[in-house]
Amino acid sequence: MSVEIRIDPILCRGHAICALFFSDGVDLDQWGFGKVAVAVVDAPRDIRRARRAAAACPNGAFIVRERSQDLANAPARPHPESSQPVA
Ligand code: SF4
Repeated sequence: MSVEIRIDPILCRGHAICALFFSDGVDLDQWGFGKVAVAVVDAPRDIRRARRAAAACPNGAFIVRERSQDLANAPARPHPESSQPVA
């Protein structure tokens, strides 16, 4: 599994909290605004750190999402209202 990391420049307020949780994945500019240093993360330890950074960001600017190719390869899950798996 791998995840994509993005920092929304509109939402980011320069708290630099994300860098405390994921220092390898974030660069701070001279005002403390975060910039993504690593756009795709696949090491489990780094994924955990990225998710902690996202959870700690008070503005929701630090975005972590699973890569679509990983989702495409994921096994089908049954729909909650159906006994048939969703394709
Ligand atoms: S914690 Fe959030 S708002 Fe603060 S610098 Fe990081 S991404 Fe930006």
